[in-house]
Amino acid sequence: MSRIIELKDIKRIYPISSDVVVRALDGISYEIEEGDFIAIMGPSGSGKSTLMNILGCLDRPTSGKYFFQGKDISNYTRRQLATLRNKKFGFVFQSFNLLTRTTALENVELPMLYADVPSKKARQVAYEKLAMVGLKGRETHKTNQISGGEMQRVAIARSLVNNPIVLMADEPTGNLDSKTSIEIMSLFTSLNKQGITIILVTHEPDIADYANRRIHIKDGLIESEEITRDLSKRGER
Ligand code: ADP
Repeated sequence: MSRIIELKDIKRIYPISSDVVVRALDGISYEIEEGDFIAIMGPSGSGKSTLMNILGCLDRPTSGKYFFQGKDISNYTRRQLATLRNKKFGFVFQSFNLLTRTTALENVELPMLYADVPSKKARQVAYEKLAMVGLKGRETHKTNQISGGEMQRVAIARSLVNNPIVLMADEPTGNLDSKTSIEIMSLFTSLNKQGITIILVTHEPDIADYANRRIHIKDGLIESEEITRDLSKRGER
């Protein structure tokens, strides 16, 4: 068991005018263990996206400390954050963000080709990741020929190409019906069992129930937390 993330009194303050600021995060302290499955919940405007952006190295806190695998990354430059993000994080979004009329395979290959992975290797990895998300045999289907659930599977396969240790998912079932949502959450559960730490934003309690820890954010603060399996205490996995 090892600690992946530690946040210490993280604040993110947006200046609005010379005398007005928004305290999007107002002092968040939180620890995430390897293998955790965290759900972040809270009303609109509570700070969920701001927290996800900081956790996923897309933004930097105004103050406070962020330790990633024990290393203080609070003062990393944007370039250092981007490198860390590409190596360690995968991202899945509500809107899938796939290229239209392009095959599942090409969607998964593309980020690797941009990263100068040789095309043969990129193809091999894309096949492997599509198999991992249950899309074996569908690799050459185009995104306009597959269902919403299959599109999200392609997006999840794409998020896995660099073998992330943390998967960030922002309302990943927001555009899916309830049956498909269950299938996608089962897939997240299976990835989590394979050791990937998952951080998910959702406003649906049924979806949050898949997580082992659920935090509720309000006014930029963690208001409460529910834990169904405490990995740090029980040493599971
Ligand atoms: P949520 O994701 O829970 O809806 P956000 O993290 O998007 O909440 O926003 C938290 C607060 O910070 C809100 O009051 C929002 O208006 C404000 N906010 C978010 N982004 C910015 C920004 N770029 N500039 C100014 N205020 C922002």
